[in-house]
Amino acid sequence: MIVRSIELDFFRNYLHTEVSFSPNVNVIYGENAQGKTNLLEAIGYLSGARSHRARYDRELIQFGVEHAFIKAELQARDRLYTVEAKLANGQRRQLFRNGVRLKTASELSDTLKTVLFCPEDLTLIREGAVARRRFLDDCICQLRPRYAAALAEYKRLYEHKTRILRDYSENPSLLDTLDDFDLRMAQTGAVLIHYRAHFVKRLRESAPPIHKDFSGGREILSLRYETVKTISDPEAPPKDLLPALLAHQESHRRAELDARQCLSGPHKDDLTVEIDGQNARQFASQGQTRTAALSLKLGTREIFYADSGEWPVLLLDDVLSELDGRRQDFVLNRISGGQVFITCCDKADFSGDCALFHVSNGAVQAGGGVCTCN
Ligand code: ATP
Ligand code: MG
Repeated sequence: MIVRSIELDFFRNYLHTEVSFSPNVNVIYGENAQGKTNLLEAIGYLSGARSHRARYDRELIQFGVEHAFIKAELQARDRLYTVEAKLANGQRRQLFRNGVRLKTASELSDTLKTVLFCPEDLTLIREGAVARRRFLDDCICQLRPRYAAALAEYKRLYEHKTRILRDYSENPSLLDTLDDFDLRMAQTGAVLIHYRAHFVKRLRESAPPIHKDFSGGREILSLRYETVKTISDPEAPPKDLLPALLAHQESHRRAELDARQCLSGPHKDDLTVEIDGQNARQFASQGQTRTAALSLKLGTREIFYADSGEWPVLLLDDVLSELDGRRQDFVLNRISGGQVFITCCDKADFSGDCALFHVSNGAVQAGGGVCTCN
């Protein structure tokens, strides 16, 4: 998959920008706060109508303006596509492919898949389970539309059940519907667990060899999917997971009523990351944290490739800081295949063939097309 060009109107700090990219490595360089991450964010948005850092679409629209527009020419499966996103304050976003309005964001992922690494991804290793669940969800949503639909349904059911648990003492009749919500959450949750378990299985094959290579053969990364305790084989078909999920809910019913929160279900899942047998969350150094987070992302990229036969577009935001020379060399020279966008403050970090783009105050200037920089 290749982003051949992009056009932005009033997206973040870009007034109007049109830029064409190389199908290989694109280096986006410039001083702080000029728009490098914003450019990567715009590309990432076109793969699922989600930003990695904005909670609401309105944050993407330029301050003081009502509309924003992103348009890209893409190449996928040897065909050319035009995809567009129209954002407007107070209105639902509109997505188009080849001029035809799309019903769901996951239709965008058919045409463009991206894997993004950004400084915030260090939370994947360092912080609580929320970041790791979001990582799993983002990846699997791009791969499997059925998962995206199940996740949206699960979130809806979760919110509804939370309201029941919160309000039942003022309105006891709400409890009449609890069994029904429990059943539907268990059915939908079983789908999530099944897909997550399969994804983690593939990630266990793809990410550790990358981490090992990245660390010069010194470190072993291991991953473990943690889900509802009563489930012994999370890879089993969803219908076989259902009894264990219902049993877990049943045993937590009293505790849920007392705590007034949903305590049972895959919204508590985690992905345990260990380096050399130690939990990375507690023990990894800054460089190891970055290496492990990046290995998870590059492992995901390989899964996408194995799945579709095409490399997803790799977006690397500020990846080089905190890495020693050997690890920087891995990033700059060992990632092969597919289109890559990489941001940095100083183009001197790069050697080899790459297309340079200088970003300054929301304007992108191609630095002389494809060139060899040192
Ligand atoms: P750094 O090297 O520090 O990471 P950067 O080049 O990646 O910098 P960006 O994160 O792309 O910088 O942000 C560039 C500028 O865009 C920032 O000054 C930010 O305040 C501004 N900005 C963010 N959102 C909007 C918006 N909705 N409207 C206008 N400007 C915005
Ligand atoms: Mg940035």
